[in-house]
Amino acid sequence: MFLPFQYYDPGTLQEFINLTQTLPNYQILAGGTDLFVKMRNGWQHCEHVVDIKKIRDLQLQQINILPNGIELGSLVNFTQIQTHPLIQQKFTALHESACVMGCREIRNRATIGGNICNAASGAEGGSTMLIFDPIVHIAGKDGRRSMPLAEFYQATEERGKTKVGVALKPGELVTHFFLPFLPAKSNSTYIRRSRTQGMDLSSLNLALAIIDADIPENRRFRIAGGAVAPLPCRFPKVEEFLASQATLSSEVIQAAKRLIQEAANPRAGSKRASVAYKKDQIGELLEQAIHKLVNGHSCCC
Ligand SMILES: Cc1cc2nc3c(=O)[nH]c(=O)nc-3n(C[C@H](O)[C@H](O)[C@H](O)COP(=O)(O)OP(=O)(O)OC[C@H]3O[C@@H](n4cnc5c(N)ncnc54)[C@H](O)[C@@H]3O)c2cc1C
Repeated sequence: MFLPFQYYDPGTLQEFINLTQTLPNYQILAGGTDLFVKMRNGWQHCEHVVDIKKIRDLQLQQINILPNGIELGSLVNFTQIQTHPLIQQKFTALHESACVMGCREIRNRATIGGNICNAASGAEGGSTMLIFDPIVHIAGKDGRRSMPLAEFYQATEERGKTKVGVALKPGELVTHFFLPFLPAKSNSTYIRRSRTQGMDLSSLNLALAIIDADIPENRRFRIAGGAVAPLPCRFPKVEEFLASQATLSSEVIQAAKRLIQEAANPRAGSKRASVAYKKDQIGELLEQAIHKLVNGHSCCC
């Protein structure tokens, strides 16, 4: 049941800043597919909800193609991501994650900004965005700032518990994400495990990019996982190990699987999958993803 709350819809960034300075506590509303679920279930009470969809001067709903990359407004929804031809071609893992995200209705509503700012470890956008090294752009009462997504995610220890969130201060919002293009001869993919019944976030997921795939000496890897640590995360040791190998033989892949299984740190007590399952399956996902990229890429939808 919803407890009463005040609704606001500022029309400009300045109105957003003025308004949020007067509110003791508030939540930003984008698509509402996380926020309203939490409020309705009583997991999060908030008296003030600030809808950012009417802010006109920030182009929050737009996808802009730039010479060196792509800029996603924070209110870009998963249908836009799924159907954008350049995202499918150049940011294939992101396209593939949008294909399996929720259902059509959720994809029409759910935004990439909400997906990231909600900081769920298994969120579809988390691991896929991380392999593209995006920059998060933020605006607020102290001006504008930006930072890599890996730094935007924040985990802190409080009384023996890991608390996760994002590096936003009161009076700030995410305006957009900048994703640089991968070099030519690079490719990426996304695979997840999910429960078979109903519609759900991943039980665990993995995104992989192979950079300069054709030249073994130059080949680099970017690997990120979801729901295998408190937040979506990269696996630098596995990336370095694979980059140092001349071939991707089955022995090398088995060794990489063992490394990622050791590095994975899923939280105990997840309702979606056990720690043992996640540790086992993150290795399987890595192997599948490598085979998918090395032996020819096929789209999931
Ligand atoms: C039936 C169902 C199925 C789902 N399936 C999936 C799934 O398969 N995969 C998946 O990843 N998720 C899934 N979700 C979760 C959800 O849809 C996504 O996380 C979605 O991307 C959240 O975006 P939103 O715009 O709805 O965010 P909101 O609910 O509006 O906001 C989420 C949080 O982010 C903050 N926020 C939003 N935008 C900004 C911004 N620009 N700046 C600062 N803070 C901001 C809000 O204050 C809030 O705390 C599902 C949800 C439902 C209800």
